[in-house]
Amino acid sequence: MLLEPRSVKLTTRTGIEIRRTLPNARKRMIGAWAFVDHFGPTPQTDGMVVAAHPHTGLQTATWLFEGRIEHRDSIGTIQHIEPGQLNLMTAGHGIAHSELSQPGAKHLHAVQLWIALPESAIDTAPAFEHVRDLPTVELGHASVKVFAGSMLGQTAPTTIFSPLVGAEVRVPAGTSLRLPVDANFEHGVMIAQGSATVNGVFVKQELTEYLEPGASEILITAEGQDLIAVLLGGQPFAEPIVMWWNFIARSHEQIVEQREQWNNRDPRFGEFEDHIGGWIPAPELPNVILRART
Ligand code: MN
Repeated sequence: MLLEPRSVKLTTRTGIEIRRTLPNARKRMIGAWAFVDHFGPTPQTDGMVVAAHPHTGLQTATWLFEGRIEHRDSIGTIQHIEPGQLNLMTAGHGIAHSELSQPGAKHLHAVQLWIALPESAIDTAPAFEHVRDLPTVELGHASVKVFAGSMLGQTAPTTIFSPLVGAEVRVPAGTSLRLPVDANFEHGVMIAQGSATVNGVFVKQELTEYLEPGASEILITAEGQDLIAVLLGGQPFAEPIVMWWNFIARSHEQIVEQREQWNNRDPRFGEFEDHIGGWIPAPELPNVILRART
């Protein structure tokens, strides 16, 4: 099943427009992956200027194909990230952070992903990790860099809380990659550059081919130009969640509370001042009761 992203203008200083694949009308989550934003390629200076905002109940994973971003957060982290590295922020009970494109690289090209935390970890203390030593597997001319979970016998040293996998896949033009995958997982193959045939389905740039649990291999052929894809997979997430703005919770009441706490500068999210300046308030809630959904 093909998932089409929608264009979203971010409420950032530069008002950059990104493509959002998840949540999607056809598929809300892939495993615990609950949110997929694709940035650029865009001139680096316009890339990412996201002032202080909070998160709860999730992990943010930032992955770059091109560019350089500085991450700052309310537990004191200041961390630059470059292509091939992972910035993983576990929001848990609550954290605030900001992201700022850095001079140097010409373009920014990135994905930002959210991973829903299971009930057992939803209230965990906030944490941050910058992961550089990620396993890369060369298969013929193709390469697979595993940034979360396990694939091809390699395990990323990334902290995760439910069975899932995430990898960057590069396949040279006109060649194919046969990728064994966990048949208990559902998967999505998002095309960041080029176009591909994925298990017999033509997938053009920006689209994601969704594969139900049961597939034990994914055959990816790069059509036309060198392919960059992001593979996301996981055991279907069984817990109903409420996702609103930057929060993932289990009930409407929890969302109401978190929203008020952020807008009232509650210590839940820590003390945070970045050098972007400003602070993004939570918007008004819709005039309906938010329901937990799978
Ligand atoms: Mn964020």
